[in-house]
Amino acid sequence: MADGDVSEIEKDVDRLYVQLLERAFQQVKPVQVSPERLKLPEMRVEYEGRSTVIMNFKAICEILRRDPRILASYFGKSLGASYSVEEGRLYLHARYPPDTLKSVLQGFFRRYVKCPICGSPDTELIRKQRRMELVCEACGAVSAVEKI
Ligand SMILES: [Zn+2]
Repeated sequence: MADGDVSEIEKDVDRLYVQLLERAFQQVKPVQVSPERLKLPEMRVEYEGRSTVIMNFKAICEILRRDPRILASYFGKSLGASYSVEEGRLYLHARYPPDTLKSVLQGFFRRYVKCPICGSPDTELIRKQRRMELVCEACGAVSAVEKI
């Protein structure tokens, strides 16, 4: 093999190496998430007698891609309230101001939606026997979270 060929091969190897490095860097780079995507959905809150009703509960669950039973249970536990889900609405059987509800939803988002590694909201919550796992679709991280 002539010297010329060897250096051509070396160049190819160098080029490949650079490509591999670039790809590796892309994989560890934090995912760019627009602030818009991290904004919480607005809750429509109404009061019926002694109950607080989140009217668009089903839509919120769909936006966050979470099982309504999980989010309902989180609200119930966080507020120490009994609750029920009827026709896509969440009924909390006590009166709570909108700010309180908002901070509960924020807490849920922070712990059960947003990836703690890269900050992406594109995650899946998987129920295991004794715990739950947050699996990130953006960076692939699997984070253990407290069971709800
Ligand atoms: Zn992630």
